[in-house]
Amino acid sequence: MKPLPVEPASVREYKVVTTKVWCCHLIPLPKESNMFPARLTACSLASFLLLGLVTLWPLRPVALAQRADPEAPPAQWTRISDFDTQHLALDLRFDWPTETVHGTARLTFKPVRSDFRRLTLDAGQPMTVLEVTTESGAKLDFQHDKAAEKLTISLDRGYGRSDTVTLVITYQARATPPTGGLFGVFGTGLTFLRPTSTASKRRYQIWSQGETEYNRNWFPCFDFPSDKFTSEVRATVETPYTVISNGRLVSDTDNGDGTHTVHWRMEQPHASYLLSIAIGQYRVITNEYDGIPVQSYVYPDRYADARRAFANLPRMMAFLSTETGIRYPYAKYAQTMIAEFGGGMENITTTHLADNLLPRAHEELDNIEALQAHELAHQWFGNLVTCRDWSEIWLSEGFATYFEALYMGERFGTARLRAILAEHHATYHQAWNEGRRRPMVTRQFAHPDQLFDAYAYSRGALVLDMLRFVVGDEAWREGIRHYLQRHQFQNVETGDFRRAMEEASGMGLDWFFDQWVYRMGHPVFEVTHRYDADRRQLTVKVCQVQKLEPASRHVQTEYFRTPVEVEIVSAQGRRQTVRWFVEAQAEQEFSLPLDAAPRAVRFDPQHRLIREVIGETTPTGQLRETAGAGWWDCQHRHQHSPQTGLSARPVTHRRCNPLLSRVVFPHRHSQHCEDEGHERTDFTR
Ligand SMILES: [Zn+2]
Repeated sequence: MKPLPVEPASVREYKVVTTKVWCCHLIPLPKESNMFPARLTACSLASFLLLGLVTLWPLRPVALAQRADPEAPPAQWTRISDFDTQHLALDLRFDWPTETVHGTARLTFKPVRSDFRRLTLDAGQPMTVLEVTTESGAKLDFQHDKAAEKLTISLDRGYGRSDTVTLVITYQARATPPTGGLFGVFGTGLTFLRPTSTASKRRYQIWSQGETEYNRNWFPCFDFPSDKFTSEVRATVETPYTVISNGRLVSDTDNGDGTHTVHWRMEQPHASYLLSIAIGQYRVITNEYDGIPVQSYVYPDRYADARRAFANLPRMMAFLSTETGIRYPYAKYAQTMIAEFGGGMENITTTHLADNLLPRAHEELDNIEALQAHELAHQWFGNLVTCRDWSEIWLSEGFATYFEALYMGERFGTARLRAILAEHHATYHQAWNEGRRRPMVTRQFAHPDQLFDAYAYSRGALVLDMLRFVVGDEAWREGIRHYLQRHQFQNVETGDFRRAMEEASGMGLDWFFDQWVYRMGHPVFEVTHRYDADRRQLTVKVCQVQKLEPASRHVQTEYFRTPVEVEIVSAQGRRQTVRWFVEAQAEQEFSLPLDAAPRAVRFDPQHRLIREVIGETTPTGQLRETAGAGWWDCQHRHQHSPQTGLSARPVTHRRCNPLLSRVVFPHRHSQHCEDEGHERTDFTR
């Protein structure tokens, strides 16, 4: 999914607002930076000693650090289930005046233990369960605990692991208003939209939003990503309305009474949160990719705009099929415009897109193009392979964000890709500087919605770009294909991805995933160099000056190890790039034969690493300037703007305080420069 602002905006504005959405509307994570003083005054001596232990011994297991924090939420583990859902068939009718769905759910499952006598499903508060029967119609006792959102059904006998059981649950469910949930705009189950006295032009629509755990509000299921099943949806609606759901269209039957029944079947297993429905008055734009139907359901009065905006969808499917090495894996792909929604949601085979993001004829298409690529990329990352539990959500969002950027790079050139990644560096550093700090994979969260932040999206994408830098393009492609092929239609965790990449590259990558995925933070490199004219040798000294956070409940990396590129510009202006391996230690020196003192030494010039850099030096060794993430952002944006098509404004760093802004607030610096439209100064000369 991808949260976007309610009002469409330009590329630059949209990115900034997106960041704000992440910042403001999520349930805020505790700010570790603010915790330390509070704890000093309030905590017991024991806690203080524990903190001291963590300080002195920063690489202790997570559990110790967790215990040191009395405010830490309990660890969230993969839910245990004693059954395996095989198939879910929903039969639905809708009552507009009461905003209620009347449903029958035929649920087929296999117990995973013997003498299985009680089935417990998730069933939310908007739901009223009317009857539960066996497949042959025998009534079963049940209990619906609305507060706990659990439906417990007593079976007619004990079943075993070799049994396949089908139950029929008759229920009704009220709509849930499209507020709350992710970012406050995504909906939490089923949304009914109708014209009202204050909104007379509102369209009639019904749509669902399942991620993270909201589908339980309109059908009973095991509502957690670890259980995959096939599904089908039959929906009966008044004739003018179109029904869009997952998978293949089986039939559309006119009932002769002003209604029709539309039947969709999803033949490959998927997680519960990806099941969806959208009902409204639509016109279809039909296309195809490699024989697969590609449909966009759009408002008839926005047909021309939609045709223009959605024209590249087959091209995106071709790109992602090639880039992942796996052909688009489902029977169809659809996009549906829905109202009063906040971005895009990658329901399986059937993405929902906020209607107010559709550009009008005079507006540029970049945002909607990127959004479509993001949701389409999820059909591979998130839908074909699905994180086993929410702590691993970067396997969805980081990948969708990165492949969206790759698509934009393919479309508009490498410079655009680097510019987009520079934005993600900025977003990540902004979160970091504002005290929102965590490892990408953490089990410490109060609600899974909290995890859809700069770490899942921006840092996730950047870690993938770094991994590609580490293993090389060829192994990267092979690893992605291998990962998808091995785990398709299954659940995954980061370890599965690591193993696939290790097998493809022949490299051990435990260190990479440990420091970038499971631990918090990034390196701050202080880079200096000196030239020895007698020996004709350049020596570059790389120090890691980042500090551990003693107050943090998260496990951290003291020193990072990583390959890095260093560009050396000779006195004559000739450039050469060397690749060195920085080890996990406080300082390290690299030497290189060189005929004369260099004009400049640039550390990580392509910005492939998540890092800050301090200390680009002149030939005399005098500290001349620093280059943190913000400076590189500026450099990327402004160097590349003619190619990327992004609006280019000249920038200078003269009026900025380079040390303060780059070291302390690297992102602020780039914003500052950009906002104030300074002239540009070349630092390295
Ligand atoms: Zn997404």
